[in-house]
Amino acid sequence: MSTCPSVRLSTGAQMPLLGLGTYKLVGAENVLQAVDAALAAGYRSFDSAAVYRNEADVGRALKESLPKYGLSREDVFITSKLGPKDQGANAMEGAVRSLTQLDLGYIDLYLIHWPGTQGLDVTDHKNPDNRAASWAALEELHAQGKLKAIGVSNYTPTHMRELLQSCKVPPALLQAEFHPRLGQPELRALCLESGVCFQAYSSLGRAELLTDPVVLEVAKNCSRTPAQVLLRWAVQQNIGVLPKSSSSERIRSNADIFDFTLCDEDMAKLNGLDCGQRFCWDPSHVL
Ligand code: NAP
Repeated sequence: MSTCPSVRLSTGAQMPLLGLGTYKLVGAENVLQAVDAALAAGYRSFDSAAVYRNEADVGRALKESLPKYGLSREDVFITSKLGPKDQGANAMEGAVRSLTQLDLGYIDLYLIHWPGTQGLDVTDHKNPDNRAASWAALEELHAQGKLKAIGVSNYTPTHMRELLQSCKVPPALLQAEFHPRLGQPELRALCLESGVCFQAYSSLGRAELLTDPVVLEVAKNCSRTPAQVLLRWAVQQNIGVLPKSSSSERIRSNADIFDFTLCDEDMAKLNGLDCGQRFCWDPSHVL
């Protein structure tokens, strides 16, 4: 892979723009094969979560593979997330469980995965209180140096404003669904003005965008794969991506996005696809 640039978080930490997504990557052998292929291809960032049930396997795979490439813990950036079942009073316990499962000493970035709480109705008035309690727990572990940076995922502009007004430590990053059909202009503007790094998930639209006629046309124009075009579109805007693949070959090719540029015309064509379509869950109804 050509060199992967990094973005600077408000904590001062450098986060690589490309990371390996691990949702649905389960089973020790599968995780080891994907992590190893990613390290070989130059990935230095890995995105896990309590709900993916693979934190322990990701941690073990890194411990096994890092020395093979002459790398150490400090050379990689590990993200994980607090599960919605631990939102609120159980947040400290949930975050400590993530630290124990990964067993890598510390977590580079820990996110509240979802603004709601598992088992609560989206309109339940306890949702904001639980978010605040979770954030306080993350702030405490951040102060102890166990969570190097803390942030959120799937927050809407309303959830973000609530957090920005009440927090002691501001969120370093927001991870949200982002691809040409979901441009998230309001969230991105809010992040920009608040110093919060914006990171994309489901950049490939869970593979559904790979057959979009406009994506195919741009891919043909620049002799690249549709996946490379979708990933390049985001990183060219300085937005981090987390493509998930279980195939070593696709993991490798998804990393080949730093040695070409999409021209203004192709960027405009892709920007023109924005229609607010989501491939994942919509958090906008969570109170
Ligand atoms: P995605 O990365 O948009 O798409 C993954 C799908 O695309 C898989 O089915 C994969 O299949 C396929 N694929 C990958 N590269 C390909 C290529 N070059 N050619 C053809 N097919 C390809 O979807 P995602 O997993 O939803 O999102 C990525 C990551 O973001 C997740 O793994 C997770 O880490 C994170 N995420 C976070 C949240 C959140 O709530 N914070 C939500 C969703 C995702 P193969 O495995 O067979 O290659």
